[in-house]
Amino acid sequence: MTNQPILQIQNLNKSFGALTATDDVTLDLKRGEIHALIGPNGAGKSTLIKQICGQLSSDSGKVIFNGRDLAGMDMAERAKAGLGRTFQVSSLVMEFSALRNVMLAVQSKLGTSYRFFKNVRGDKSLTEPAMAALKRVNLEERADVMTAELSHGERRQLEIAMALALDPKAFLLDEPMAGMGPEGSKKLIGFLDDLRHEAPILLIEHDMDAVFSLADRISVLVYGRVIATGSVDDIRNNPAVREAYLGS
Ligand code: ADP
Ligand code: MG
Repeated sequence: MTNQPILQIQNLNKSFGALTATDDVTLDLKRGEIHALIGPNGAGKSTLIKQICGQLSSDSGKVIFNGRDLAGMDMAERAKAGLGRTFQVSSLVMEFSALRNVMLAVQSKLGTSYRFFKNVRGDKSLTEPAMAALKRVNLEERADVMTAELSHGERRQLEIAMALALDPKAFLLDEPMAGMGPEGSKKLIGFLDDLRHEAPILLIEHDMDAVFSLADRISVLVYGRVIATGSVDDIRNNPAVREAYLGS
């Protein structure tokens, strides 16, 4: 049972009109691993993540997560089932503190609703897990800072804290290092390196140094199709991959 991949993507397809964004994609995510998904711009990487998390419907194919077929489940149900993904920066509430944003995530998980979100400060069922998540991304000292005043890198950390607060069984991360400075990227790499043991990660990332240092396996997507899956060495030495993507 533990050898069973936590996430199985089987023959997924998605077209936008005449454009085939994902083309018969089959791949899986094993427990304890980071599986990186690389490929040129427009290859269909983000589309695939959106199909998995339920943000986009699929034309055909299956997603099996933790033994369950996710067909018919919307994004919120998939998140409740343990499929974690980062919230986009644009979904952060800028006039809330960092802590309060994480509390919103915890709240969505618990399914509690507060009218106008008042009186939540004193609710330990929200503040404690939210603080714990901030601590894990080293943002606890910034808990009370208004999100609008956080740096770009700190906002990206905050997104990860929000995802962590939902206690996911697996992570889908779409370019988590984008816009981060070298220092922030380095910290994030260290963090993801440990995180895989708690929740395996399907990682889309353009930073090849990060991919090569983190990935247990890499899949290469070109024009919506998986052209290769293998170890870092397999992929680096694959002539078709070098031609299509690595450019040498
Ligand atoms: P990647 O993340 O690999 O850069 P995307 O998944 O964002 O690629 O996009 C794959 C292709 O699908 C691109 O050609 C893109 O323009 C197109 N596409 C993505 N989303 C939509 C959409 N909502 N409507 C129409 N075309 C889209
Ligand atoms: Mg993308």
